[in-house]
Amino acid sequence: MGRIAERISRLGTETAFAVTAEAAAWGARGNKIYPFHLGDLNIQTPEDVMEASIKAMKEGKTGYCPTAGVPLLREALAADISASRGVKYAMENVAIQPGGKPVIGKFIQALMNPGDEVLYPNPGYPIYESQIQYHGGKALPYGYVEGEENFIFDMASIERQITPRTRLFILNDLQNPTGAECSPEELEKIAALVLKHDLYVLCDEAYFDIRYFGKSASLVSLPGMAERCVILHTFSKKFAMTGWRLGAAIGPKEIIDVIAKLNVNDESCSNHFIQYGVLAGLKGDLSGPKRILSILKERRDTAVALLNSIKGVRCFKPNATFYLYPNVTKAMENKGLKNYDAFRQTVLHETGVSFCTRLHFGRALPGEQESYIRLAYSGIDTPLIKEGLGKLKAFLES
Ligand code: PMP
Repeated sequence: MGRIAERISRLGTETAFAVTAEAAAWGARGNKIYPFHLGDLNIQTPEDVMEASIKAMKEGKTGYCPTAGVPLLREALAADISASRGVKYAMENVAIQPGGKPVIGKFIQALMNPGDEVLYPNPGYPIYESQIQYHGGKALPYGYVEGEENFIFDMASIERQITPRTRLFILNDLQNPTGAECSPEELEKIAALVLKHDLYVLCDEAYFDIRYFGKSASLVSLPGMAERCVILHTFSKKFAMTGWRLGAAIGPKEIIDVIAKLNVNDESCSNHFIQYGVLAGLKGDLSGPKRILSILKERRDTAVALLNSIKGVRCFKPNATFYLYPNVTKAMENKGLKNYDAFRQTVLHETGVSFCTRLHFGRALPGEQESYIRLAYSGIDTPLIKEGLGKLKAFLES
């Protein structure tokens, strides 16, 4: 163990994977599991994406491709993002990646010096904090507060923490785990703050297209922002292809060039033939993504209604993402379970319902009083949602 490099002590992980392992172990002992813990999809990748990938593979697209991606895909994605964000992106603004996740570390490596401060959401995707600290930065967490209809971005906690060393801002609008979405006014306030403090922004837009109502907005659409933002884009959710691994970094050419250089060092290129599959998906009739959304919407509606019927639980209905973040403070009190892990494990053992808690998305912030869990409905069918949450209700109200 003495040989492991010092920097590894600063590397975090996704503790949600440990919940998956625990649920699997409980299932292996003959117990029925209702998997709400992991943001993975149990829905098939659209036919056109699969067919075009197989065709490309058979046609010999099996060698290396350009490090920033197949030009046709970079062009098509630039056109797609330009149209939905109202910003002019070209092929040179796009670097294809093996998933959306690598954009986090590459953005930080490209723009953060050791000792620089980075604002990031907590609760939030745990890889932000991990990558900031791993690369020698100082991680400044900002929170969300429970509003009337949605979680609200805690602007005050952001303003309070900014110093001259604050260089980067990570924004995950349409947020994992809360499902929170910024209002147009909040996006404007963020843009003003970014300009005032000369910040660069990672816009994690992993859930931009996982939307059931209304239209997603992006910080990049605001004046002066496209020059300072890198979009984390992923095909994982839109085309239900988490395990295929394809995403992209989209932003100013000088930053994208650095990210492409990191690609050369890390993986040479992303999978070649899958890029043709996704190209076909983007240029196709989009019936696949529509089918995926309609399945997810039914699950969301079922789960939200059931959760809100449980005594001691309240849950918003986010317009986007595939996560629910119910407040379970009263339910935990009713059961005499104060500790998150005790609550999670007791529920798993009593009902088979498996979920993550607030602590899988960062350490609790000072003054945090209420308790939350996160349910992902991307990997569980509606009949099982009904059955599992029915058992949860019976247990929590007993
Ligand atoms: N950002 C957020 C907020 C996520 O929830 C995820 C996946 N859970 C990702 C990025 C990365 O996803 P992928 O690497 O599959 O594109």
